[in-house]
Amino acid sequence: RKLLEIRGLRATVSGIEILKGIDLTVRSGEIHAIMGTNGSGKSTLAKVLAGHNAYTVTAGSVVFEGNDLLGLEPEERARAGVFLAFQYPIEIPGVSNSHFLRLAYNTVQAQRGKDELDPLEFEDFVREKMKLLDMNPDFLDRGVNEGFSGGEKKRNEILQMALLEPRLAILDETDSGLDIDALRIVTTGVNKLATRDNAIILVTHYQRMLNYIVPDYVHVMQGGRIIKTGGKELALDLETRGYDWVGAERRSAI
Ligand code: ADP
Ligand code: MG
Ligand code: MG
Repeated sequence: RKLLEIRGLRATVSGIEILKGIDLTVRSGEIHAIMGTNGSGKSTLAKVLAGHNAYTVTAGSVVFEGNDLLGLEPEERARAGVFLAFQYPIEIPGVSNSHFLRLAYNTVQAQRGKDELDPLEFEDFVREKMKLLDMNPDFLDRGVNEGFSGGEKKRNEILQMALLEPRLAILDETDSGLDIDALRIVTTGVNKLATRDNAIILVTHYQRMLNYIVPDYVHVMQGGRIIKTGGKELALDLETRGYDWVGAERRSAI
């Protein structure tokens, strides 16, 4: 079943065109990796899908579960089931993580017509999810991302994802700054959260995350376009051969 369909998507930031015609179809149950050199537009694509207000869509369409995603406010997109783990998670000192997570969870529950959880019920629920991610419960009492290490922030993102149960999760550079142990924990969590009913888009510069999370499709971005799509083996090619050959192959084909 089709979850997301992007057609001819173009977007600008500060008047500069960054996305120059993106086509991408994501079905439920699929994991897509978006790779590419720095500056190729990967994060821009993720932010445009999340509805970040710095970006202007100038052409194309994005349909999510049959609805025009671009017509929704960022909060509405989140409630509709799109989750974006930010490349640099925000800190909210003074607001406890458990309070923040419960608000986020209850907002989505209410929107879905489901019961909200009171603090005690939420505590039980979130602790179960934290076990899944091998997270220390002390996290709950700390300020949102306050003084978290890189690995802890990433794990916190995955915890948010576990709580919100999005239909489409977009993880931007979730692997950056993780040591091997944290990478294993985070990717194990993502694998546990991947189901037949949801889909995951992994944005990553490096292949190493894909040793743990096996994508169905790998897309290579360059200059604001997807210039090549392949299976999981494409990521291994990129690891050994770098990115230059993909552009060269494309130029010689034109
Ligand atoms: P990636 O995530 O693939 O490294 P980005 O999407 O972050 O790439 O950036 C793509 C291009 O858009 C880069 O050339 C970057 O400098 C430019 N860009 C991104 N955000 C802005 C911005 N707010 N203002 C101007 N240029 C931007
Ligand atoms: Mg970058
Ligand atoms: Mg980026």
